[in-house]
Amino acid sequence: MINITSFETLDKAIKLAGGEPTVLEALWDGDTSGWYLYLNLHVIIKKLFSIKKEVRYLGTISLGGDIRLFNGTVPPWPEAELAKEWGKMANEKYGLIFYFPSDKEPDNNCPGWEQRHLAIQCADCAKMIIPTDSPYLSKEICYSCHLKREFNNKIKNAEPYDDGVNLFMVKDEEYNHLGYSSFLDGFSMAPFIDDTVQSRREKRLVDIVTIDELDISIIKEKIEQALDEKVAVYKSAEFPPDFPEKFKSNIKRHTVEYKGNKYELIERLNEEHSKIDGLVWALEMVDKAISGNYCFKIYFKNGFTYRDDAVLRFVNFVSNGSTSLAAIVQQYSGILTETEVQDTVTKMEKAGCLIIEGEIVQTTDVTRKLL
Ligand SMILES: [Zn+2]
Repeated sequence: MINITSFETLDKAIKLAGGEPTVLEALWDGDTSGWYLYLNLHVIIKKLFSIKKEVRYLGTISLGGDIRLFNGTVPPWPEAELAKEWGKMANEKYGLIFYFPSDKEPDNNCPGWEQRHLAIQCADCAKMIIPTDSPYLSKEICYSCHLKREFNNKIKNAEPYDDGVNLFMVKDEEYNHLGYSSFLDGFSMAPFIDDTVQSRREKRLVDIVTIDELDISIIKEKIEQALDEKVAVYKSAEFPPDFPEKFKSNIKRHTVEYKGNKYELIERLNEEHSKIDGLVWALEMVDKAISGNYCFKIYFKNGFTYRDDAVLRFVNFVSNGSTSLAAIVQQYSGILTETEVQDTVTKMEKAGCLIIEGEIVQTTDVTRKLL
């Protein structure tokens, strides 16, 4: 598989394809490592007594990396930006048509150049799509619009949404953000603080739990115990004999030190290594807290809905922390009524997340630590 990494590689592939290029098409496909674009070139081959149309596969544009999860905001797709830029250059150089039916986000239901006549326009975003044959999806819209509609329904129906926990190391007014996780158990120190945390939760809309000096020294002991057990059975990671050579350089390794010994760990792919890594990190944070007289503070939501979350995010991120009530109503028109927006804002004011002064709605310090 040729990886198209620049206009030069694309240009070379076009020349190698032979014939007269007429259409360059960019289509999405996905595998376990994420979405990528593949490029086909439609060419006309002229021989003495015949003219033939052929399609040549040129290669892929793939930046790899993690699967970017849909979270209700549109993620940037740098692959699409590159394809658009190079497609334009190919158009200028060869006079060919650049065909890219989904240039804003990945979609593998778009018609190829030769299936255009089978396509319909997505009712929401007007993109050309081949109607899905899934009985669970609407036929008239594309998959990304389906996800958007689903997300908007969650806002409309005020479905519960308490995901999102933030951990800070705190001294007086100094807050150091240590991490975000959907749930508490995403933190490597979770098993050692869970009981304490649960017993201190007050189940208010916003729960802020403090883990103080005394707790931290107990946690330190527990983490060390767990680490002692893990490093006692530590094994360095060797590649299995059939591991493909070309992927070896993708595997990142780093070394951690614990009680004077060094351990080489590989990232992500080895569960035992990840646990050691997480525990070493937790121990480091705990040591920092002890030597610097910090405590830990953990921010939880409790009884939030998608609607609350969406309104807070709109005020905090989209509007930089301050906007008018009318602007929020406008943002959610068609999804929420004015009364629903008003109720949400009032609920978030009670939670300490918003301040309302006349028409102006502002986020608070709590919101910035909660989201
Ligand atoms: Zn659409």
